[in-house]
Amino acid sequence: MADPDSVCEGRLAPVRLLLASSNPGKLREYRELAAGSPLEIDLIPNFRELPAFDESAPTFAENGAGKALHYSRFVEEMVIADDSGLVVPALGGAPGVRSARYAGPDATDADCVRKLLREMDGKAGDERRARFVCVIALARRGRALAVVSDLAEGILATEPRGANGFGYDPIFCFSDGGRTYAEASPEEKNCLSHRGKAFRKVRDLLLSSNFSTPS
Ligand code: IMP
Repeated sequence: MADPDSVCEGRLAPVRLLLASSNPGKLREYRELAAGSPLEIDLIPNFRELPAFDESAPTFAENGAGKALHYSRFVEEMVIADDSGLVVPALGGAPGVRSARYAGPDATDADCVRKLLREMDGKAGDERRARFVCVIALARRGRALAVVSDLAEGILATEPRGANGFGYDPIFCFSDGGRTYAEASPEEKNCLSHRGKAFRKVRDLLLSSNFSTPS
């Protein structure tokens, strides 16, 4: 799609991606991740008024790809969608694809964190291992263009710490020193996170010379 030399020299025309999400935390992170590259991230206009995509598949990949395909039928530009969540092996993979709704359909992030901490009560050592997973899909006018994924491993804290980020960030310890994502700077989280790693794959793909989109 792009000549890498022209990208380095700043000659590349911007590539606009429309994010299929109503989650302000995700939009903020995607914009931070795209900063300094020719990629521009905007929300799909009137996202909440479009027919909703039913994210009830059992895998992140099906939900992410399905979401991108679904919303790409309503707009002209390329759509980027992700399905992401926290997987705790000691809880059989929960909250997993239900991360956003773990404590009920109208639950807040704080409700979900409280519920997870209750479920983790009494668990120690390796039982507190967890991983964030992110699947990102690109689609245009009902055609899938790419699906990529990545993950970030960590340990669940016993109580929330830090004020940055969103979702389960206050209880996800990513470093040996036990800091949570909510205690990290946005730059530090984006460098290490599941979403940061997956987005860099998308960025490299979109800016590679052999990536073409259907007209
Ligand atoms: P989705 O909109 O169905 O992909 O929901 C993903 C949910 O997983 C979010 O609402 C959060 O609860 C959780 N999640 C995903 N990524 C992160 C992250 O980077 N930090 C904290 N929580 C996350």
